Amino acid sequence: MPNLKNPSPPPDGYRGRFAPSPTGPLHAGSLVAALGSWLDARKNQGKWLLRIEDLDAPRCIPGVDQEILRQLLACGLSWDEEPTWQSRHQERYQKALERLNALQTVYPCVCSRQTIASALEAQGVKIQRNQEIVYPGTCRPEHIKVSEKIASPMTDVAWRLALPPNLSIEFEDLALGKQHQDLNRAVGDFVLRRRDSVFTYQLAVVVDDAEQGITHIVRGQDLLSNTARQIYLQKVLEYQTPAYLHLPLVLDEHGEKLSKQTSASAIHTGNGQEALQALRQAAKHLGLRDLPDGKETSIAEWLLAATQAWNRKITFS
Ligand code: GLU
Repeated sequence: MPNLKNPSPPPDGYRGRFAPSPTGPLHAGSLVAALGSWLDARKNQGKWLLRIEDLDAPRCIPGVDQEILRQLLACGLSWDEEPTWQSRHQERYQKALERLNALQTVYPCVCSRQTIASALEAQGVKIQRNQEIVYPGTCRPEHIKVSEKIASPMTDVAWRLALPPNLSIEFEDLALGKQHQDLNRAVGDFVLRRRDSVFTYQLAVVVDDAEQGITHIVRGQDLLSNTARQIYLQKVLEYQTPAYLHLPLVLDEHGEKLSKQTSASAIHTGNGQEALQALRQAAKHLGLRDLPDGKETSIAEWLLAATQAWNRKITFS
């Protein structure tokens, strides 16, 4: 049996990260996540790593990864250690999936969106737009066995994680306090590798955070509903669970989250003044007050003051 054991335990000390998907350049919302995670790492004398989450190739735009790197550097948000790209780590995700298979916790699924929707409709469940679809368990066998097929990328099946009944995950968010989610009611058995052989965000993020020894995850609140899934997966894979802090989202004029999908405009970082302006906006959103606002302030000076002012209990204006 190949060595499928989990990565070594995180080293001592804080290790944070920023993990953008290269589906568009940084906008006001993603800069908040970048700045918040950078400040939290710097305030705690920690390391801040950069990971490009480019597994879903059709959604990624060529060259945008380099654009994000340039934007971060223009804002003075420098990273420690070499940046990494998820598309280069297929092997580690496959190994994690094989380990889950050996633990008899995954099963193949041939359901299409349509079959899932029909099965839910038959149960009288109405699917709302933008709502998480709870998998009804159509393909779940009564007894899960180790499957031999898992190694083949050609099998045209998705792989789902089988959840035990009554799985309530609780965690303490460093900004929001106690959180909990009943995973069966919220999502059901979720997908780890899609039918087109793409490893999902849930699996890849958990494996990479563990591989990179991440101790603190600071990111936008749009990802809060994913955290319980990730904590459960960490437990099954015997990884350490990092601390979590979810930051307030930037909303557009319709009250919707700013996102690359809704073509939020890229932050301007063409010169120091523009970059500082973008940083100031992000800091305001994070509730940071009394930062140097003079024209002469350098980015380095401003970031130092912002690090001193950083407070995890974010208060809104
Ligand atoms: N790649 C994800 C995104 O851009 C972030 C993942 C994370 O921080 O866990 O939304």
